[in-house]
Amino acid sequence: MDILKEVSGAKTIGIGGHIRPDGDCIGSAMGLYLYLLKVCPGADIQVFLEEPAEIFKCISKIEAIRTDFETNIEQFDVFIALDTTKDRLGKAEKYFDDAPKKINIDHHVSNSGCGDVNYIIPQASSTCELIYDLIQDKKQMDEEIAKAIYIGMVHDTGVFQYSNTSPSTLRAAGELISYGFDFPKLIDETFYEKSYVQNQILGRALLESIVFMNGKCIVSMVDKKTMNFYQAKPHDLEGIVNQLRNTKGVECAIFMYQIDTLEYKVSLRSNGKVNVERVASFFGGGGHERASGVTMRGTFHDIVNNLSAQIAAQLKETAQRK
Ligand code: AMP
Ligand code: MN
Ligand code: MN
Repeated sequence: MDILKEVSGAKTIGIGGHIRPDGDCIGSAMGLYLYLLKVCPGADIQVFLEEPAEIFKCISKIEAIRTDFETNIEQFDVFIALDTTKDRLGKAEKYFDDAPKKINIDHHVSNSGCGDVNYIIPQASSTCELIYDLIQDKKQMDEEIAKAIYIGMVHDTGVFQYSNTSPSTLRAAGELISYGFDFPKLIDETFYEKSYVQNQILGRALLESIVFMNGKCIVSMVDKKTMNFYQAKPHDLEGIVNQLRNTKGVECAIFMYQIDTLEYKVSLRSNGKVNVERVASFFGGGGHERASGVTMRGTFHDIVNNLSAQIAAQLKETAQRK
């Protein structure tokens, strides 16, 4: 895809990403925004995302994000959906629907493309890596764009550790750090550093976790009461599922937090034997083979039972294949 060709002539450009935006979503939206500001000087460009976590305040012009989803523009000439399908654009979905030209850039296997122009590359580590590839004229790259894109790559690869990290991911990252931002500080402050409250909840979630299926699965849950007690937001719970997955012997980790009565946001992580994208898709969610998510209704036990059936079936399949 030639992004410059796709947006050429557009007077108004909207950019959106998924609800509860993560590092990749924010990094790709801001990286693309900063780039388009340079290459489309006459255009009115607006970014719509839910409130980014405090850690992302280091990204240049982050305050330009319209977290209230308000706009003076009736219809965007082009609307670009990043790191998601249109159904998870939240309040920006209407702008996407109304735009005469819709562009979808994503790396989720579960996304078959919802735009007029789609750039969906499941092998890519992150949407940020795709934005890096789309900025073909590297003379337009600068420190601020590089930093935004780098943050998203770091977050979606777990600091270049997960299996979605490829030689081209590392080559891109190598190129990006040559722009001179303080990358060790950036990784520490946006990825590893946790607030006291985040660590307390992590501790509780680990303490209350349950292993089952002979230690192949682990589950933990944080209910609304606990979230309220700690005044924790969903992004404060990021990383818990990865810590659960690090348990020796575990093939599949499940972490869920309560959104409402009988409604939970579920995160799934796999160590390779279980394709958690298939599990999440079965219940209406999606993601990647080793990291996926879904919103499910029911009691904690019902949800765990339903997920377990799918996970057990896959583990049985893998065992039979051997
Ligand atoms: P999470 O567990 O929320 O960190 O999500 C893991 C991965 O799955 C991320 O790439 C998410 O974008 C994706 N994902 C999470 N929830 C959903 C959903 N309901 N539908 C599609 N993809 C999802
Ligand atoms: Mn994401
Ligand atoms: Mn992503």
